[in-house]
Formats: sequence, C-alpha cells, structure tokens
Amino acid sequence: MDFFDFHHHKKNLTHGIYNLDIEKTPPDFYYSAGIHPQDIQSENIDNQFIWLQSVITENCFAIGECGLDGLVSVDMKIQEDVFLRQIQLANEVKKPLIIHCVRKFYEVISYRKKSEQAMIIHGFNKKQSVADDLLKNNFYLSFGKAVLYHLSLQDTLKTVPLDKLFLETDNDNFDIKELYQKVSEIKKISIEQLQQQIVENLDTIKNG
Ligand SMILES: [Zn+2]
Repeated sequence: MDFFDFHHHKKNLTHGIYNLDIEKTPPDFYYSAGIHPQDIQSENIDNQFIWLQSVITENCFAIGECGLDGLVSVDMKIQEDVFLRQIQLANEVKKPLIIHCVRKFYEVISYRKKSEQAMIIHGFNKKQSVADDLLKNNFYLSFGKAVLYHLSLQDTLKTVPLDKLFLETDNDNFDIKELYQKVSEIKKISIEQLQQQIVENLDTIKNG
C-alpha cells in the first residue's frame, strides 16, 4: 500500500494531492486548486476565479490552498472576501477545503460555519490550545515534517483523534514513509492501520 501525501508540490508524485499553481493546467491525478492569499491580485480577482472554476474537474480533490495569512501584504479585508468566495464555491461543487493559515486561526475558525464541506488545516505546527480550538470546531489537521523533530508537536499529535488526521510533505524534501512511521509510533498503532485510517478519512471528507 502506498503512503498518501495529503498536500504536496511535486509533479512526479501521483499518490497524494498535488497543489496546482495558480493559472496552471491540471495534471491527470488528484490535485487541489485554489487562490492562495499570497497570489491574490485584487484588480484581477474575477479572472483568477474564472481560472479556478475552469480547473474544477473530477480529479480536483479539494479547493485550496486558500485561507488567511497575517504575513502577506494583501489587505486582510480582501483576503477574507476571497476566502469566503472560495468557501461558497466549495459548497457549490461539494469539495473539501485545504486551508493555509498564518497567525489568523481565530479568524479562520469564525468562517467554519460558512462551510458545508470539510476544512483541513494543512501544515499544522502550532500549540496545543490552537489544535484544541480547531478540533472543537470540527477542523481536520494535516501534519508535515515538523512532527519528526518537535517534541511538543508530537505531544499535541497524541491528542488528535485518528479520524481527524492527515499527513503531508508540502514543500519539504523527505520520504513521507518516515512520517507515517513516526506517527504510527506516536499513536501506538501499526503503520498499516494508520494508512487504512487515512484512506477512510479521505473517503469521509470526499463525501462531505
Ligand atoms: Zn503547500
């Protein structure tokens, strides 16, 4: 069984969800497509949404990355508008949302009730209290490379229910098998059970 990589940027990796760059043509395997906060061009936003609509096909597993980023220069009001439009689009096309969030977790949580679809925070590496609040609000958490090294994040992972969990490589260069190995040790289950759980979680979010 292969190790599913929930969020990555590698064109040669087919077992996972490839994050399509803005304005690009989709591959013939699973991908996600969205307007990342840093890619928002406010004077061109309608065209950006036309592109996004055009790439929502069968292989488009999720809308995203989209979300809120406190470190990019795009005005927060505009970021919120574009995020909300993508939530509405996800509701329409019935696809989950892969969320990019930097320093705006409470704002992102305030949008949870607008979405009828699953919302997955990708690259989660924040403290326990943030994880608790996200889980309380029915978010999924996708963990990456940081889990291999950060003890406090490993402790947080112990408290994340298995049915709210995904694993990803994102932009980092490492073998995702290492991450499955580590997480199966932390969660005290076999690597096969972990793989099976991730497959079930994918099914759950796919079916809303
Ligand atoms: Zn990414």
